[in-house]
Amino acid sequence: MSAPTTTNDPTTAPGTAPEELVIRCPGTGEIAGRVAVDGVEDVAARAAALRSAQPAWAALSFAERAGWMRRWRDWMLDEEQALLELVQRETGKSWNDTNVELPVALEVINYYAKHAAAFLAPEHPRPHSVAMATKRIAVHFQPHQLVGLITPWNGPIGNPMLDLPAAMMAGCAVLTKPSEITPLTWAELVRGWREAIGAPPILDCAQGGGEIGAAVVDVVDMVHFTGSVATGRRIGARCGERLIPCSLELGGKDPMVVCADADLERAANAAVWGGFMGAGQACISVERVYVEDEVHDAFVDLVVERADALRVGMDAGPRPEADFGAMATEDQIRIVERHVADAQEKGARTLTGGRRLPGPGLFYPPTVLVDVDHSMACMREETFGPTLPIMRVPDVDEAVRLANDSPYGLSGSVWTRDREKGERIAQQLEVGAVNLNNVLINLFQLGAPQGGWRDSGIGGRLGGPSGIRKYCHERVVVGDRIAPSSEPVWYPATSRRLALQRRGARLLGAGDWRRRLGLRGRA
Ligand code: NAD
Repeated sequence: MSAPTTTNDPTTAPGTAPEELVIRCPGTGEIAGRVAVDGVEDVAARAAALRSAQPAWAALSFAERAGWMRRWRDWMLDEEQALLELVQRETGKSWNDTNVELPVALEVINYYAKHAAAFLAPEHPRPHSVAMATKRIAVHFQPHQLVGLITPWNGPIGNPMLDLPAAMMAGCAVLTKPSEITPLTWAELVRGWREAIGAPPILDCAQGGGEIGAAVVDVVDMVHFTGSVATGRRIGARCGERLIPCSLELGGKDPMVVCADADLERAANAAVWGGFMGAGQACISVERVYVEDEVHDAFVDLVVERADALRVGMDAGPRPEADFGAMATEDQIRIVERHVADAQEKGARTLTGGRRLPGPGLFYPPTVLVDVDHSMACMREETFGPTLPIMRVPDVDEAVRLANDSPYGLSGSVWTRDREKGERIAQQLEVGAVNLNNVLINLFQLGAPQGGWRDSGIGGRLGGPSGIRKYCHERVVVGDRIAPSSEPVWYPATSRRLALQRRGARLLGAGDWRRRLGLRGRA
């Protein structure tokens, strides 16, 4: 086992806040860059400056805001090579996986730049009853002034960019807090917004660890958080104390259900990509596989053959020489080691991989485990690493039961050639999204809401109208088409008004004519 080459630990001494984060590449151990760390008072100052700038931003038209978003997008494209190299240096990803980051940003910017005006146009619900027939109703969407966006390390561009464009297009100012493990690329993107394209200063970045994330939660009006369940609980509790809304996108343990009639080649290719992409460090990675008995062995053979062919490393590009790259931290690789050791001790077999690769760098090979069951951590806890535990099941019902036997409910996939059967199984999975004969692809359906069940989250993430309305208050304005000098329910209270009121309520509210006319019960 090689010595750890990177920690990216911002703590210099117990109880002492560091002045800068020194970021080491997990693929090489070399220094990738440094950023200055904020203090709590810096976070408050950033928040105050963002609040001052926000009203002018919210006063712009949707087209003007979209114009700035598109200029930022174009700057990203012009700086693509430099940005991706920075992503690679701070994550240790393969060049291939690094290239997944930017398309996400472009897509989400384009989507909300195009649709925000329609999604946030005032709505005019019709009066719901005859009694309210004269009312004119409008629902307006008013942006929260300052949104906090706190993100993890596994997608330095992709993670914040899944959520940020909607908040900015809604008219919010946004105080971001990237992970202390990978703060470099995000700092550069925020610099790009503020300095390179000279956009209004409604986007800023606080740097530091959990205490700075907590300081962000304390100064904003709404929080979107992506990260671990433990941190999500803390943030949710704090938002509860402050009575501000939050949406939480947390961990996952995504199941893959492979039926006997599945296209096994496609399923095996998907399992290998979905399980090992980014070294398995994606919330929607395939984390566990249930395969019907009769095709289990054939499926496992295909998966192992493909896993064996994968190349692990941090290649320079442009021609890919590695499929996936490093694990982000020593802590993360230790979780993988613990899950593999636990499975082996309880009787699982490791058909390929199963031991960290020699350094430098934090590399773990694609690892396929069989003879696994739910007594093992690899089937119950989020691994967030390049492991694929595959479990034999007697039938689909058992696969569904086991898939649902989890504290998580982010997403999952079902594999069958029978479309109706696939849809039926999908309806039984207790998760926020199900892919039929595909993996991970749900996250990129921007028209559909995304969000996990159970410990995987609360409140939707992005997608469709709800993905931008969550950054807004709703304000209802009710007007009258006719305005007499008084209304039947207003003072003074008189017997006549009261009788009229009661008769009217009966007439409109009762479900049958006898009660409507007061022929039954006391009118
Ligand atoms: P983490 O929860 O440790 O940290 C995430 C962010 O929260 C970091 O920026 C961190 O500094 C900050 N933070 C820590 N303590 C805080 C506090 N008390 N208040 C406010 N902010 C605080 O997560 P991680 O290790 O960086 O990321 C891995 C986790 O993220 C995994 O569990 C993974 O499943 C999850 N994740 C989920 C999704 C999703 O969309 N569901 C996407 C990517 C990652």
